[in-house]
Amino acid sequence: MTTLSFSQLPLAPAMLANLQTLGYTAMTPIQAASLPLALGGRDLIAQAKTGSGKTAAFALALLARLDVRRFEVQALVLCPTRELADQVTQEIRRLARAEDHVKTLTLCGGATMRPQLASLAHGAHIVVGTPGRILDHLQRGSLALTALNTLVLDEADRMLDMGFADDISQVAKQCPAQRQTLLFSATYPEGIATMASKLMRDPAEVKLTEQHAAGKIRQRFYEVTESQRLHAVGLLLNHFRPVSTLAFCNTKQQCHDLVSVLRAQGIVALELHGDLEQRDRDQVLVQFANRSCSVLVATDVAARGLDIAQLEAVINVDITPDVEIHTHRIGRTGRADAHGWAFSLASLDEMGRVGRIDEMQGEASVWHALSELTPTGSGPLRPPMVTLQILGGRKDKLRPGDVLGALTQEGGLPAARIGKINVNDFSTYVAVEREIAERALSALNTGKVKGKRVKARWLSELPES
Ligand code: ADP
Ligand code: MG
Repeated sequence: MTTLSFSQLPLAPAMLANLQTLGYTAMTPIQAASLPLALGGRDLIAQAKTGSGKTAAFALALLARLDVRRFEVQALVLCPTRELADQVTQEIRRLARAEDHVKTLTLCGGATMRPQLASLAHGAHIVVGTPGRILDHLQRGSLALTALNTLVLDEADRMLDMGFADDISQVAKQCPAQRQTLLFSATYPEGIATMASKLMRDPAEVKLTEQHAAGKIRQRFYEVTESQRLHAVGLLLNHFRPVSTLAFCNTKQQCHDLVSVLRAQGIVALELHGDLEQRDRDQVLVQFANRSCSVLVATDVAARGLDIAQLEAVINVDITPDVEIHTHRIGRTGRADAHGWAFSLASLDEMGRVGRIDEMQGEASVWHALSELTPTGSGPLRPPMVTLQILGGRKDKLRPGDVLGALTQEGGLPAARIGKINVNDFSTYVAVEREIAERALSALNTGKVKGKRVKARWLSELPES
């Protein structure tokens, strides 16, 4: 067994200290396999499942090479969607804290041009964006990549799926030939090799397609009739009482119906689907991640690439016809040292699909009866936190510390009862424990944040007292 300490890597002491602060005590397997090569300057193709820590695997490499005194774009990360680009930017910013003044900019389609042009005029060291928009900026001349050292293709499989292959090659043409190219992907379809052969130089390949850690995911199957299916989800939740559950449906309609059924039972459930406006999508994800929404209901497509930590349960509301997707779904839970539940609801019509899952897993599925699912605890499942929204964000120079200060110092609330604080461009989301939510809201609305009055409101549905 090899030890996976970051201190074996040629990283600056300040970076090592920052990793400690972030709680990154050991490298994940994909980091251990790819960082020595990436830090050594090799081109790299790295494949590992969602949630395995691929972002830090490339972010540490590009940050190590960054010269902060040169105020030019030295690294470009291409991502398939704005949401993934935002997640990558956040992770890079966290990792970049070891050094002062590293400027990371997100440039994605769907957002208006003018603010992006203004931000570009101020300059940046690292740019994260979607291929189409990056190309657009290159063509307008608002972005130059002449000083680029590192090109990263993140979620390359997904970018290919979305038809970005041409845009990516065009962007790559505008990068210096003398560069490092890092390609990360959850799967390895044929198109990846083709793209790599065009864009990369003698890339090293790292593949970690390991099975889920045995025993960490506890799988149970329940036989249901169609009329029991949606109701069974509520039974599972009120019996096992997981704080955060991701429920997968095969269709959007099923997602929609499930959310209505759960809400009618007093369970806080939100739907994630492709038709949501970006702002609504952000709000859904923030509420789920900060533990103020018990259940996120999604199709496989909508949930793809999402980084969701601390998931106690996954529910397969339908059995997917694709065995690999099943493995991918249940692999969302049971991360790190935690155990996770994976529940699957199957009708007689779906038994063939279950059979294929058994075959792939090399063991028989474990079945339980719906009648075992009696409510435990008192009342319906409720999330521990509530989300408040402050109308003001990064553009108003708000930082998480300002909000925390307003709540703890001015408002007199204990810091331990305040959860995640997400600062977006125009809004800030604060999770607070349900019991102190009223007080927190009035503290924000009557006090000052960073010396200024702010407006705050409930984002979550109003908590019952
Ligand atoms: P991927 O891109 O492979 O889907 P991410 O890079 O999004 O995975 O990482 C998943 C989560 O794991 C993130 O929340 C990240 O902060 C966390 N993480 C990454 N590396 C480590 C580490 N070495 N120790 C602890 N947590 C880590
Ligand atoms: Mg990723």
